[in-house]
Amino acid sequence: MGAAPPRPPAADGMKRTPLRGRSVKKAQADRLRKWLRTQFLAIHPDCERCGQPASDVHEIIRRSQAKDAALRPELFVALCRACHTWATEHPRAAHATGYVLWSWEDNDDALEVARIKRRIPYR
Ligand SMILES: [Zn+2]
Repeated sequence: MGAAPPRPPAADGMKRTPLRGRSVKKAQADRLRKWLRTQFLAIHPDCERCGQPASDVHEIIRRSQAKDAALRPELFVALCRACHTWATEHPRAAHATGYVLWSWEDNDDALEVARIKRRIPYR
């Protein structure tokens, strides 16, 4: 591919630089996140809650509460869309059954308890 042809000046004569949609750093993180999700679903093809084919990677700590949650496979749970919707809409019940952790439970012990609640054997 060669360089893009020069853009004609805007009607008002001002030069304009197109806005960059997202930073290089964000684009790299997005690529890594997508790759991690694809790999995780390949390893965990079934919904952990109901056994149907998994379609979603659920993070048991909300991304709003752990900024890097999407890049931390230890927080991932493979779910089907219906179970993912349930976990999102019923956080208290999801917490009781190991599908949600509160932000202050972001530690190895709480993650292990959540695994036990979900009846996943120790690794
Ligand atoms: Zn399910």
